[in-house]
Amino acid sequence: MSSSLLSQLADALGNGSVEVVDLTQPLSPETPVIELPPIFAPSPGLSMQVISQYNDAGPAWYWNTITLGEHTGTHFDAPIHWITGAQLANNTTDTIPARRFVGPACVIDISDRVAENEDTLLTVEDIQSWEAEHGLIPAGAWLLLRTDWSKRQGRDAFLNAGEDGPHSPGFHPGAVRLLAERDVLGVGVETVGTDAGQAATFDPPFPAHNIMQGSGRFGLASLTNLDRLPPTGAIVIAAPLKLVNGSGSPVRVLALVSR
Ligand code: MN
Repeated sequence: MSSSLLSQLADALGNGSVEVVDLTQPLSPETPVIELPPIFAPSPGLSMQVISQYNDAGPAWYWNTITLGEHTGTHFDAPIHWITGAQLANNTTDTIPARRFVGPACVIDISDRVAENEDTLLTVEDIQSWEAEHGLIPAGAWLLLRTDWSKRQGRDAFLNAGEDGPHSPGFHPGAVRLLAERDVLGVGVETVGTDAGQAATFDPPFPAHNIMQGSGRFGLASLTNLDRLPPTGAIVIAAPLKLVNGSGSPVRVLALVSR
């Protein structure tokens, strides 16, 4: 047994005592994208066109052209995504230091409540009671909100739009402020965006975007498999494409979990 930390990790990955859990949803033309009121420009979902597929256009190779909005499927929100983060240093996908794409995960589970109330929000009290059991959320951690929303099948159930807008769980403004005080890397959710479906009516509107991006922090949306993570102890890797001036990008989010 090697003594170096990374050699031990390599051994643990090899023997399965550290598992790689994929927190990413499949990305396809069917992947739902957030819907905005029609006065705003919509973001396109994924489309793919074959460039060649072992044919006259390219006899030995297969590849596609892809077109999509930056915020499609499992994706990363950079600080510049929101107007509150527009003037911050290192606020784009290409300028965020890579160190900030890796961090421990704190997972707070409100899935029981979501089953009763689709609009339920993580509150300051929820965070405090989680911390009483698991300790303070450390600086530089991802805060992942488990809602089991990713288990919803089909676009309509996932977006859950009503006449008064979408209904899906998220964060109370006070909870986001407390997470910023804890100096988290950002928040991750199972829903289509980091804010609750009804967050346009909150004060401030869209607090997860307003406060997280406004304080130089990140978002991860459309995560899955959060039910396979422990409350603490996992390491999450979420690195967006190095798009110059990018506001975000689809991302493959991985968690290292001790078994
Ligand atoms: Mn986004």
